[in-house]
Amino acid sequence: MGASEAVLLEAPTMFDLDRCIHCGLCLNACPTYRELGLEMDSPRGRIYQMVRVATGEMPVGPAYIEHVGLCLACRACESACPSGVQYGRLVEAARTQIEQSVERSWLSRLVRAVVFGPLLESRSLLRLAATLLFIYQKSGLRRLARASGVLKLFGKLGKLERLAPAAEFPTFFRHYGRTYPADGECRYRVALLGGCIANVTFARLHEATVRVLRKNGCEVAIPDGQTCCGALHVHAGLRRQAQRLARRNIDTLLDGGYDAIITNAAGCGSTLKEYGELLADDPQYAERAARFSRLVKDVNEFFASIELNRNLGPVPAVATYQDSCHLTHGQKLRLPPRKLLAAVPELKFKEMPSSEICCGSAGVYNVVQNEMAMAVLEKKMRQVNGTGADVIVTANPGCMLQLRAGVELHGRGQRVSHVIEVLDEAYGNHRGR
Ligand code: SF4
Ligand code: SF4
Repeated sequence: MGASEAVLLEAPTMFDLDRCIHCGLCLNACPTYRELGLEMDSPRGRIYQMVRVATGEMPVGPAYIEHVGLCLACRACESACPSGVQYGRLVEAARTQIEQSVERSWLSRLVRAVVFGPLLESRSLLRLAATLLFIYQKSGLRRLARASGVLKLFGKLGKLERLAPAAEFPTFFRHYGRTYPADGECRYRVALLGGCIANVTFARLHEATVRVLRKNGCEVAIPDGQTCCGALHVHAGLRRQAQRLARRNIDTLLDGGYDAIITNAAGCGSTLKEYGELLADDPQYAERAARFSRLVKDVNEFFASIELNRNLGPVPAVATYQDSCHLTHGQKLRLPPRKLLAAVPELKFKEMPSSEICCGSAGVYNVVQNEMAMAVLEKKMRQVNGTGADVIVTANPGCMLQLRAGVELHGRGQRVSHVIEVLDEAYGNHRGR
């Protein structure tokens, strides 16, 4: 069997579905159930529908597509489940099944073909998209569009404008192919993954990540042949495309002799750590993919596992932390970011109630299910405001965008930062730097 013929998990299996004992302990952890109170929009209800589809009692029809589509794939239910249901795996398989069953309009097919095809992989197309965004944001066009109310004419698209990231120039692509030495003694050799859109919208965060890694004795390589991790493809049910990207990243990074492959995006990290599973049935790549996944470390996880450089200066602020679903539920990493924040002098930490509940970002969820995403966000911002924090810290660029929109709509002027940006600021504030 060749690589392209690898067996794919293209529908939820009864083996996985049978793990659910219908206890309902996951219900309160589920943001869509909390919002709507409907069993069919709870993890247990979705599993019930998946079983009915698997046994042929229900078609892959509009109702099924709607309820599965409304799931944030946040995996909070997985953390709550006493029976070890792998809900993330189930929902991804259900989406692959839906993707293969539905007839999409030509426009939807075109948009998906462009976004999930060349756009996320092409540096020149990403730069072009960022340039257009930059012109819109900096030329006064955005101010005009917002003030004139013209955005309302675009309906859903107009509402999404608020979620658009800021284009950042120069982009991070200029660092591709380079290796930066450790500050002082070299303790580790690591590779940094730039992802896709983050290269043009979170370029400064990536640069801060390089700085903080170097401060901690890492030689940092940004290998040139790397590409998008495929997380968005997996979430959209496009497993074959994700597999193609995974093979390319493995070929580029695995044999570099790195101690770790680092990502600062929790969503990417979850998928990178699942390459082993994604390519499990590919005889040429299964072993390499499993080895690759073992090397992947979320940047918080990495720093929490090494002896941290304590030359941190003060960051006088009150901070709260919003768990990124793919870090806390997907990778089971709740403590590392908190441990890092606790190391920063003069940073007062206020824990937020329900910080483990999704903010509504969830990959492209806030774009395709904007109404639910905004309802979830509004609740989240009430919790944030209740802490009195002036900095909201999180560990995923997608969550940062969603929380920034939350601050704009319901907040009190809070700053939204990645854990790494707080550390970078602390190193910058150290007197002996
Ligand atoms: S993944 Fe999140 S939104 Fe989906 S069923 Fe589980 S808890 Fe609910
Ligand atoms: S907690 Fe687990 S076993 Fe119980 S209903 Fe939810 S998914 Fe099923």
